[in-house]
Amino acid sequence: MDCLFCKILAGEIPADIIYESDTAVAFRDINPQAPTHVLVIPRRHIATINDIEPGDTAIVGSLYLAAQEIAAAEGIAEDGYRAVMNCNEGAGQSVFHIHLHVLGGRPLLWPPG
Ligand code: AMP
Repeated sequence: MDCLFCKILAGEIPADIIYESDTAVAFRDINPQAPTHVLVIPRRHIATINDIEPGDTAIVGSLYLAAQEIAAAEGIAEDGYRAVMNCNEGAGQSVFHIHLHVLGGRPLLWPPG
């Protein structure tokens, strides 16, 4: 499968991996938009939010538990952080393997652009 994040999971492309569980892996974004910018992905290939199935609820939930743990480890849990997932090109999705962006370490504006 020609998926960049599946290749990172397979160790075929290097990444700065900072978290691993049975269902999720997290690594630093190659083009960080904040002092902390981590991507949390499921081990299972799911292309977009639209492709999440009822049986994936534990997997998707585990992405948020990973985000919680990462935010604490990065020291941004109390100040605040954003955990956001883009769906399809119109929302800015460029890699079609779902990923939670965990952003923090600077003031974050709302709404996003
Ligand atoms: P999105 O635009 O929501 O699909 O987010 C994709 C993210 O993946 C972007 O923030 C990219 O900077 C990031 N990205 C692309 N290639 C890599 C890579 N090889 N390692 C880490 N992050 C990457």
